[in-house]
Amino acid sequence: MRILHVASEATGLVKTGGLADVAAGLARAQRDAGDDVRLLMPAYRGCAELADATVRHPLGDPLGGGPTRLLEGRLPGTDVPVWLVDAPTLYDRDGGPYLDPHGNDYPDNPLRFALLGRVAAMLSTAGPALGWAPEVVHAHDWQASIAPATLHWWGGVRPGTVTTVHNLKFQGRFSPEVVSQVGLPAAAYALEGAEAYGTFSFLKAGLFYSDRITTVSPTYAEEIQSETGGEGLHGLLRSRSNRLHGLLNGIDEGAWDPRSDSDLHAAFGPRSLGPRAANKRALQRHFGLDEERGVPLVGLVSRLSDQKGIDLLLAAIPQLLRSPLQLVVLGSGDPLLEEALRDLARQHPTRVGVNIGYDEALSHQVFAGSDLFVVPSRFEPCGLTQMYAMRYGALPVVRNTGGLADTVTDVSAGGCGFTFEAVDADALREAMHRALEVYADGDRWTRLQLQAMQRSFGWGNAAGGYRDVYSAAIADASST
Ligand code: ADP
Repeated sequence: MRILHVASEATGLVKTGGLADVAAGLARAQRDAGDDVRLLMPAYRGCAELADATVRHPLGDPLGGGPTRLLEGRLPGTDVPVWLVDAPTLYDRDGGPYLDPHGNDYPDNPLRFALLGRVAAMLSTAGPALGWAPEVVHAHDWQASIAPATLHWWGGVRPGTVTTVHNLKFQGRFSPEVVSQVGLPAAAYALEGAEAYGTFSFLKAGLFYSDRITTVSPTYAEEIQSETGGEGLHGLLRSRSNRLHGLLNGIDEGAWDPRSDSDLHAAFGPRSLGPRAANKRALQRHFGLDEERGVPLVGLVSRLSDQKGIDLLLAAIPQLLRSPLQLVVLGSGDPLLEEALRDLARQHPTRVGVNIGYDEALSHQVFAGSDLFVVPSRFEPCGLTQMYAMRYGALPVVRNTGGLADTVTDVSAGGCGFTFEAVDADALREAMHRALEVYADGDRWTRLQLQAMQRSFGWGNAAGGYRDVYSAAIADASST
């Protein structure tokens, strides 16, 4: 199948969160399974060099944002072809994909991401000129949502379209005037269209106009159809529930393998767990903690935001620290949470280590060196870190929501994790206490670690699910 993924980030080129891992991992898995996959992304500063992009096709100035070209390259470390939308006035900047160096949204984000979607639509219809046209366009999150909307409005013969919601909280909502800037007719700004509560919503455009919708876990697919989880779009999602599919994310088991991970201090695996201890020691040293082997070490790698329940951890931790326990945190985000975590580390310098920042290699080391890994999210579409943790032998303590509920089973039900229900510090503390009790039984702990490490989280299952959804989308497109 010829598949065009449209995404604002992909691991190997630029990553701010799980979307990047999923876009790259899914594309790679589909390519390995024999599909003809391409990935379309903006050419942010530095990406063209990373992708080794040399071939160039002029695209004119599609939305009046400046001259635009298409660059062709490869996703680093893979043989997945990448097309980069090269519009220097929009993408060649200091800062991240969405935010300037001061942490503010770029004011022209509507135009920047409309162009991404617009080019996807152009390639889908003018594709034969490039010798390739997709049968299905797979748009990821709001940043890609103009692609299915544009294809709908252009009409005619078109590929099937699929929009995946990686996080419904982020919808890309702007003032109504952007409708013309993003290249859609004024009629698209309507209740039966991209209008949401007096704003133009990129994501709603994707959800409304796509042939099919997916989200990243079965439980989240249910939750977003309810008023509490629907972020204002539950009505639309419920009305399209026969087009909405919850497909659990996989992880790239090649990139995330403790037997061959070059970021680790010592390789280990289910058949050779012993060297894992060296990773714990190295992690303790890195964070300046007491290098005690028997003290349970809790890890956290996360965006620091309200969603992730960091406040619950902050509320639970003082009492937990009355027992032997160490905590290491790697994350960045909300300045208040950053400061509260720094404070905690200052109060307990030999027991709590905090690194405010983004560090891919260190994140691998946290998974490999922690005994427990905590994900206390208020909501979690899928979540990847709990899967990385299990694969690296750190047992997860998670709130029972979204993809966490679909991937972590409590020890009391035969699983290898510790789950809690209520969004409060007491519930988290209770789960942590249960985990610490089990930790004290070394043999049982090792058995649970092995159980966790032997679980399969690869893309195999999801790749089949996506194939079915694509077939349905292609059939839908040909019947409209
Ligand atoms: P989300 O996409 O909501 O942030 P996910 O769990 O789906 O959450 O994915 C987060 C990804 O980003 C994981 O690969 C995680 O390891 C990584 N990550 C998050 N924060 C950091 C950080 N500070 N340093 C390195 N990697 C991080």
